[in-house]
Amino acid sequence: MPLTPRHSVVVPVCNEAEVLEAFHTRCTSAMQAIGEDYEILYVDDGSRDASWEILVRLAQGDSRVRLLRLSRNFGHQVAISAGIESARGDTVTTLDADLQDPPEVIADLVAAWREGADVVCAVRQERRGEPWFKRVSASAFYSFVNLFSDIPLPAQAGDFRLLSRQAVTALLAMPEQHRYVRGMVAWLGHEAATVGYSREPRAAGQTKYPLSRMLSLASDGILAFSTLPLRAVTWVGLGVTGCALAMGLRLVWAHLVGQRSLTWDAASLAALILLLAGAQFVTLGILGQYLGRIYSEVRHRPLYLVRDRRGFEDPT
Ligand code: UDP
Ligand code: MG
Repeated sequence: MPLTPRHSVVVPVCNEAEVLEAFHTRCTSAMQAIGEDYEILYVDDGSRDASWEILVRLAQGDSRVRLLRLSRNFGHQVAISAGIESARGDTVTTLDADLQDPPEVIADLVAAWREGADVVCAVRQERRGEPWFKRVSASAFYSFVNLFSDIPLPAQAGDFRLLSRQAVTALLAMPEQHRYVRGMVAWLGHEAATVGYSREPRAAGQTKYPLSRMLSLASDGILAFSTLPLRAVTWVGLGVTGCALAMGLRLVWAHLVGQRSLTWDAASLAALILLLAGAQFVTLGILGQYLGRIYSEVRHRPLYLVRDRRGFEDPT
């Protein structure tokens, strides 16, 4: 295999023992159909099942397979970042190992790249076989993140995309720890071509994206690309101050014209105090979210650690 293959396929793997072999067979035939040199780079993101052993076996039987094993689970977004960093192809395509992203679509992504696109996103036109909760929460996710984000993100585009070498170089220059890769790619500003595809049901195994992880991905999407929450709490604060001023003026007026002054019963006072205390804690929480992110950025820890690698024996 030449040192730099034409196409790289980056596959994050976390406990996917049930699907890996089927994935590899299908991905291999999809890549062979393109008819150019390629590599498949699997990133084992701290799997606790037999995934790594299966990957090692696949690599022994196929010189186009390269493996990266992270020291623990760093999360999907870091796993694909690690893969993109080690990929050598002129194009780098990321896709999931569970066959929800059909490898045959890579040929369409490559065709759009040949026409000059630096970023080609595969956009889900249909989400067949996904439970309704996943469909609804995913579409709420896109609209919610977009509502806040300063950069418009393509709807229904996950992390199935092709990047040109130029886009990869630009992406690798972004060192942030909290990675929301689709937002980072949108930030690069390359005009993105899109290719529609129908999202298949998961071939086997369980999703590794429960609601809690979706929420944390959404907060990365919002907090990394917008300061709107900070501005919003400023406006809430101004609004509350305005109400307090109006209330004060009303009390003064009542006093001047000799009306009986306004009285509050204990319950409504308690409600008001709780409301304001709540608003203050929310504000602190939002500040804390940004502060925590600043803290993890300034520590400058490595984004991931590699425990093992295979297929990197060549001089590069
Ligand atoms: N994945 C990963 N690390 C994680 C979670 C997921 O590498 O911490 C991989 C997983 O093996 C799969 C891809 O990311 O290849 C997408 O995960 P999944 O299919 O569970 O997400 P869903 O499609 O349900 O959103
Ligand atoms: Mg999946």
